[in-house]
Amino acid sequence: MIETIPPALTGANALFLDFDGTLVGFARIPRDVTVAPRLVPTLERVRDRLGGALAIVTGREIANVTEMLAPLVTPVAGSHGAERRRPDGGIETPGADVAAEAAEIAARFRAELGDIDNMIIEHKVYSVALHFRNAPAAEDRVRAAAHAVLSHRPDWEGTPGKLVVEVRPAAFSKGSAVRAFMAEPPFAGRVPVFVGDDVTDEAGMEAAAALGGFGIKVGTGQTLARYRLSGPDEVHAYLSAFAD
Ligand SMILES: [Mg+2]
Repeated sequence: MIETIPPALTGANALFLDFDGTLVGFARIPRDVTVAPRLVPTLERVRDRLGGALAIVTGREIANVTEMLAPLVTPVAGSHGAERRRPDGGIETPGADVAAEAAEIAARFRAELGDIDNMIIEHKVYSVALHFRNAPAAEDRVRAAAHAVLSHRPDWEGTPGKLVVEVRPAAFSKGSAVRAFMAEPPFAGRVPVFVGDDVTDEAGMEAAAALGGFGIKVGTGQTLARYRLSGPDEVHAYLSAFAD
């Protein structure tokens, strides 16, 4: 059963936040999303009140989301957990072999889907996103291509999201990112809360629940989370209530 209102954050929490659809809305092109001016100062106060136990967990690359949220400095998991900036600032990556595979997979998708107008095949270093937000009629073709390309690659997975299919190494997920952060200070020993809006966030919420915390689903749609907020505005209000 979903309860609507999540419990207030406390200083004992560790907080994991998705970016797109959770902290910001959507745009036709991912780089065009608007970051509300008050968001970064709020996140800085939340981070400080949590003793640094705040991480952004996103499908974007670390470099990309870091630029979007500058000058905020926090741990980040990018590319659905495949890359991670630890609390000490060190970057963990899955390595050059995975990057080479991602490049090959992106090339396959360009060959399969490159003729579709307004289709965005986003090649990130360790993952690929197939955005059909501006080409919704192509959904069946995108899903079929993902199935065909990934059927030969058991080490890779495709997860359907909101007008996108996210393709990433099967060993990583937002859940693996949460577990990795929770194994180290300042996250270890805290009660994890994962806030996200899309299918790939469910793994993060599942990990948070398994570690004694909970998930908060943003927006409509099925979820295993017990709590829900309606959209980025309610997420901002929820964070502000703790930070201010
Ligand atoms: Mg999202």
